Amino acid sequence: MRVVFSRPLFAYIVGIFSVVVITGILSMQITDEYIILGAILVVEFIILLLIMLHLYDKYMKPIKKAARTVDELVKGNYSARIHQTAQGNVAELNNKINILARNLSEFAIQEQMREKQLSTVIDNTQSGLVLLDEKGYVHLVNRKFTSVFGGDQHDYIGFLYYEVLSNEKIHETVQQTFLYEKNVTESITQVVEVDKKYLEMVGAPIFDERNMLKGAVLVFYDITHLKKLELMRKDFVANVSHELKTPITSIKGFAETLLDGALEDPDTLRNFLTIINDESSRLQGLIEDLLRLSRLEKDGYKLVKNNVNLNTLIDEVIPIVNQAAEDKSITLSVDTADNIAFRAESEGVKQIIINLLMNAISYTPEHGEVALYAEETDDSIHIKVTDTGIGIPEDAIPRIFERFYRVDKARSRNTGGTGLGLSILKHIVEVHDGKISVESELNKGSTFQVYLPK
Ligand code: ADP
Repeated sequence: MRVVFSRPLFAYIVGIFSVVVITGILSMQITDEYIILGAILVVEFIILLLIMLHLYDKYMKPIKKAARTVDELVKGNYSARIHQTAQGNVAELNNKINILARNLSEFAIQEQMREKQLSTVIDNTQSGLVLLDEKGYVHLVNRKFTSVFGGDQHDYIGFLYYEVLSNEKIHETVQQTFLYEKNVTESITQVVEVDKKYLEMVGAPIFDERNMLKGAVLVFYDITHLKKLELMRKDFVANVSHELKTPITSIKGFAETLLDGALEDPDTLRNFLTIINDESSRLQGLIEDLLRLSRLEKDGYKLVKNNVNLNTLIDEVIPIVNQAAEDKSITLSVDTADNIAFRAESEGVKQIIINLLMNAISYTPEHGEVALYAEETDDSIHIKVTDTGIGIPEDAIPRIFERFYRVDKARSRNTGGTGLGLSILKHIVEVHDGKISVESELNKGSTFQVYLPK
């Protein structure tokens, strides 16, 4: 029963019925027909009012509510919903509006996610990106672009490309992309802080579905690394040619002089042949070093490890370098822990010790001191070579492991050095996953330290 009364239509019928009954009872009591007529009019007016109220409640109010919700949806507030009180057709309409709102809200969330993913991809791509419309206004720049060209997005977006990009080559690329409607590639350089960056720029036109030009996208690839490699390769070829040229010229010169008649004089002959022999040895050393370096630098260099007893290895090495130390009256001391055994490429370890000791002896004046220490730590083998030699200037320290780098070219050549020794050592240490470092003070001496994992 309570359910029936809670329905508005039933409440209205009961209301109207009560008003009619009350008026009926009153009209039996009242004889004046004007009053009766007046009462009937009032009653009819009240009934009309009640019916209109009912219609308003049932149809107009829910429709207004629905219209308000739709307004909110139009404004983009997809969380707006109609709280259901209506019945019948209006209720169905409200339901559908709620379903529509839910779908819109899901679409909006998906759209936001897609937008976020896209902007994450654009921002984290390793190439700089600029999007231009058909009039040349910048619509998008990514993080890589601003990191190279400076400023932030607000300094570019909404401006004409030639107002915010000063490089003439970029202007030409954009113009050609728009003019020829095809990809245009150009190389540019840009100074970032103090570093010069080499960039390859590609201008690509964008077309709409009717194949009309809509704008262009500029992509900037950072090719600094490749340029540096190319430069290094060129330097290397130039250095190798130069290093080969010196002994070959010398060998050829002395051989020609001998052929021109010097052959007759036994003293000159011996002298020249000694020079030719020395230069050939230098050539041989250089070629061996180059081959060793190229093997070590090859991708997938296979390290063949064997059991190394460092003490035995040092015992083999000392006689090789002893003569050079004695020739310069250099005191060579060795201080190693007992029985240092580990797994490594024994030839490589031997070369490390020989090269470090030979360098120490070469770059230490007569009566100096050279010392070799070796110890075993928890996870590595520590080899240290110190000398009381000429030392290395501070600015040269980071460069001494470069191929062919020599602080004093003439001095290095006189000692028979190729300028490749330390760079070979660095490679040997690196293929062992070890570390090599140097500390040095001019005219006081140097300390080279190597750590090889056990
Ligand atoms: P090099 O064949 O010229 O010795 P390295 O690659 O072995 O070539 O060494 C590179 C340069 O590092 C040397 O030319 C020299 O200038 C410097 N150097 C290496 N070891 C020492 C050292 N113990 N003391 C001083 N300078 C050194």
